[in-house]
This record gives sequence, C-alpha cells and structure tokens, in this order.
Amino acid sequence: MQEQIIRSEKLNITSQLAASVAHEIRSPLTSIKGFIQLLLSNAEGKGKQYLEISMVELNRMEYIIHNFLNYSKPQIETIEVFSIAELLNQVKESADPFAQSKNVDLHVDAEDNLWIQAEQLKIKQAMMNIVKNAIEASTDKGQVSIKAYRQLNKVCINIHDNGVGMTSEQLAILGTPFYSTKTNGTGLGLMVAFRIIQAINGTLEFQSIEGKGTTALVILPAVDEYRRVD
Ligand code: ADP
Ligand code: MG
Repeated sequence: MQEQIIRSEKLNITSQLAASVAHEIRSPLTSIKGFIQLLLSNAEGKGKQYLEISMVELNRMEYIIHNFLNYSKPQIETIEVFSIAELLNQVKESADPFAQSKNVDLHVDAEDNLWIQAEQLKIKQAMMNIVKNAIEASTDKGQVSIKAYRQLNKVCINIHDNGVGMTSEQLAILGTPFYSTKTNGTGLGLMVAFRIIQAINGTLEFQSIEGKGTTALVILPAVDEYRRVD
C-alpha cells in the first residue's frame, strides 16, 4: 500500500513535469513555425527544400508534444457522463479523412444508451490512438469496424481491422513506451491509451493474427443514464 502511494506520487510528479516541459516547448515551437512559414512564401530551390524539411520535422515535434501533453495534463479534469455512441461518431469524423486517404472503410456501429463517466477528451484520445493504428495497419480497401455494446455493467468497444496483424511477441510488448515498428511512429500511442483506460478502471486487450488482422477490446464501467448529472 505504502509503496503504491509513493509510486503514484512519483507518477504524478513525472506527469506534471512532462506537462510543464511540453508547455514550455510549445510556444517557441509555434513561433519558429511561423517564421519558417514566412520564409517559405518567397523561398526557391534548395533553400525552399530545406525549409520544407524543417517544417515536416517541426510538425513531428509538435505531434509528439501533443501526445505527451494530452495524457499528462493533470490540472483541469472535467469528469462528465457522456454517450459512447456520440463519442465514437466524433472519432469517426476525425479519423475519416485519414482513412479515406488510405482507401480504408471506417464503420461505426454503436448501441444507443451506452453511458460512461470519464474525461471525454481523454477517452477520445485513447480511442483515436487505437483507431489510427488500425487504419495504419490496413492495406488498400481495408475495413476498420468499431462496435459498441453493453454487457451487464460494462460498455464494450471492439475495434477490428483486417490489416497486417501482429506476432505473439509483438502483442506481448504492446504499450511499452517508444515501441514502434513504423518509420515515423512515436511508440507513444498505446502507452497513452492503456494509461487513460486503466485510470478509469477499464481494460484494453488485443488479439491478433499475423497477416489477418487485429481486434482491440476496450471494456469500461457503464453508468446508468438515470444517474446522469448535468
Ligand atoms: P506508433 O503507432 O507510433 O508506432 P503505438 O503505441 O500506437 O505507436 O503502437 C505501437 C506498435 O504496435 C505499432 O508500431 C505497431 O507495430 C503495433 N500495432 C498497434 N496497433 C496495431 C494494429 N491494429 N495492427 C497491427 N499492429 C499494431
Ligand atoms: Mg499509433
């Protein structure tokens, strides 16, 4: 018990530190991007090419910081009761342009009247990280389907893709920070997803067959609608 408390305090300090570092880096980064944008508007030849590469790298830095900031922002917590169907439709809306660019069909089928109590933005982030991976694992004309249903006092969300799949060795280390098989991956997406889901007493499990596809199963405690507090 004692050790658990110390460990969670440590985690808290680490995430507060991460949040402040990320915040401090964000403003100079935004200003550098602004100046590069200005230079780009009348650059030519090699100069233009170098600036474009810098922009790509800066965007990547921003993306990594965004991933850190969102999970570690500890101060303002807005816990609310919300509908999983609504949230998943938002996830679809945000992820659809990416899915379409890869010619992947993204489908949501969620029962109405499924409610959970949590910080909505964080759950959206966790779902986005899982769904983005499913799209990235898909090949041309792939299918990603998200289903949500109730089982007793739990809300189950099933995210299935028929993409490249994983070996059992890969499955075993999912969620390890910086583990990525992608050339441009951060290896942070699933670590963040696991943390967010575990923080509200949920679970995240993966099943996969190499070459066939992957299923992620998120199980969250359900809230009865009548307990909804507005
Ligand atoms: P990133 O996406 O930046 O690589 P993640 O933490 O999101 O980092 O994922 C870690 C790794 O897990 C990925 O690089 C990939 O190898 C594997 N992975 C995650 N989801 C899937 C999936 N749906 N299908 C196949 N591999 C996956
Ligand atoms: Mg990812």
